Amino acid sequence: MYSYENPEDRVAIVQMNSELRHAQLELLSAHCATHQLRLHYSADDLARFGRRDVLRKSAEAASALNDFYSSLERQMYEKQPATAPCPAPTEEQIAQAITWLSSCLRHGRERYLPQSQALSSQQIATFSPYFPEALLKRIRVTELNGARLPEPELVVKAREMGFTNLPDLPHMESLTFIDLVVFNEQLTERALFHSLVHLVQIQAVGLERYAELWVRGFLRTRAHFTVPLEVHAFSLASRFARPEPEKFSVEDEVLRWAADERY
Ligand SMILES: [Zn+2]
Repeated sequence: MYSYENPEDRVAIVQMNSELRHAQLELLSAHCATHQLRLHYSADDLARFGRRDVLRKSAEAASALNDFYSSLERQMYEKQPATAPCPAPTEEQIAQAITWLSSCLRHGRERYLPQSQALSSQQIATFSPYFPEALLKRIRVTELNGARLPEPELVVKAREMGFTNLPDLPHMESLTFIDLVVFNEQLTERALFHSLVHLVQIQAVGLERYAELWVRGFLRTRAHFTVPLEVHAFSLASRFARPEPEKFSVEDEVLRWAADERY
């Protein structure tokens, strides 16, 4: 068994945690893909018309993962005192979180604007079937090449209060600061598409309302990737990333979701 006393073990523990984190991110994307499936199709249709071999293998993989992680969780709790369940936040705390989120998006924009650049004409051509050209010419992008966004204090505090499943900013591909998109590593088209959907959402409902919908969506669904604003961005980006992508207007999609109060 590893020990923190042994310097070699400490290096191995860091390596182990980086592999654990990698596995967790892969699980998150599997969770997100399954969530999309549940949104689009009924359990009846999946069970009746889904390919049996694929369903069986998926169920086997999910239950093997569940067994493994549940056994680790049991061991973890046996070794640690039980923590209190996550308290429901007060309206005042919710209002604070909304104000914090909108000011964080404004400050991020100011901070990264000086090192940002416009999209290339080739990138504009790639995205113009989905977004107005004027918007694509206006936005700015910044690549941090691994320097990574810092973890905001409020997120750290919320985590301490027991809110898990919060967005993990330093490990997210990209973040939208109003009309500026920051990439922790390098720009990828799919992550840029996702962020551009957020940009259109902010334009459609306004920054304050966007922050409110995000915070309330998170409190309702308790996970970053089940917030409706995120679900929509993930699903439109996956339509864009299909081998034979269809053309559609993100603005129309967003306005429809906003009018139907799906956010
Ligand atoms: Zn997002």
